Amino acid sequence: MDKMKALVFKEVGKLVLEQRDIPHVKEPDDVLIKVSRVGICGTDVKIMEGKHHFRPNTILGHEFCGEIVEVGTHVHHVKLGDRVAVDNNIRCGFCTFCRMGLTSQCVEIKQNAIGVMRDGGYAEYCLVPEKQCYVLPDEIDDVFGSQVETLATVVNGMNHLQMLPYDYVLILGFGPIGYLFAQFAKNIAAKVAVTEIDPFRISVAKECGLTVWNPNEVNIEEKITEFTYGRKADIVIEATGNAIEQALKCVTPGGKVLPFGMDSSITANIVPNEITRWATKIIGLYLGQNTMVPSIRIFQENRLNMKPFFTKVIPLEEGLDAFSCLGLDAKTMKHGPKSAMKIVMKM
Ligand SMILES: [Zn+2]
Ligand SMILES: [Zn+2]
Repeated sequence: MDKMKALVFKEVGKLVLEQRDIPHVKEPDDVLIKVSRVGICGTDVKIMEGKHHFRPNTILGHEFCGEIVEVGTHVHHVKLGDRVAVDNNIRCGFCTFCRMGLTSQCVEIKQNAIGVMRDGGYAEYCLVPEKQCYVLPDEIDDVFGSQVETLATVVNGMNHLQMLPYDYVLILGFGPIGYLFAQFAKNIAAKVAVTEIDPFRISVAKECGLTVWNPNEVNIEEKITEFTYGRKADIVIEATGNAIEQALKCVTPGGKVLPFGMDSSITANIVPNEITRWATKIIGLYLGQNTMVPSIRIFQENRLNMKPFFTKVIPLEEGLDAFSCLGLDAKTMKHGPKSAMKIVMKM
């Protein structure tokens, strides 16, 4: 059997470059994708640390695009040679959540996620069901194509936030997700500020022309109060996974908090009575939901400043080292300063 290169998550703290058999289509509605570009996600870093659900011995990579090179007998909507972005979250379509439109809560979604629970795009080839594929227009290159899924999660957040032109917006955490939210907020809201502790990412925020505060150096609650003329933020987007307490302190009465960052190791102390008394709207949501097509549209029209977003494109073989640029040395599991926003690997 022909072999391919793949970065395989063996167990917590162990990512290995291996030779794997190239998979081939067996299910009638599967397609085989020759992966072109795959993004390294903060989720992948969390998986390495054991702070996200995972399955040992799985090829990671859930942000990818590529070319269809094999199709099953029942595949009708895409064809050989199509360049497609992949929605890595397979929804069954049959459970009551799927049938009532809340597909992010599909009872099968957690067992099926491509690049988390089944083999993903950190490899030269990847098998996916046809319905997960979205054909890319020519205006979107493969690097952008790898980020359609990432943007789709943020667009789901935007759909729920209903951001208004007079909103004051605070974004906690300026990783790739905070970055994308900030691009939208800059286009829509009256005023936007972001927080970040990492020096490299602070410099990217400044490059984007954003107001940025370091919570290790200043009091964010005081800063946002001053910034909003005493009001505090109408919308707080918590994009770190560990700052919900901070978010609740920075939101104005009647305002909205979006807990978007994910870290299953974090617990928080909150005062439920304050949420009630200040009529705070906490908006829980998960993944993208019907937002792949809108995200393709946004990239196609080049609506966001993505220049400082892509730090570098590297070969798959250098993927292991790239984790250290995202703050986690994959060999020693030690944390360090970041030197990247988004790193994309090419095959
Ligand atoms: Zn991701
Ligand atoms: Zn379902």
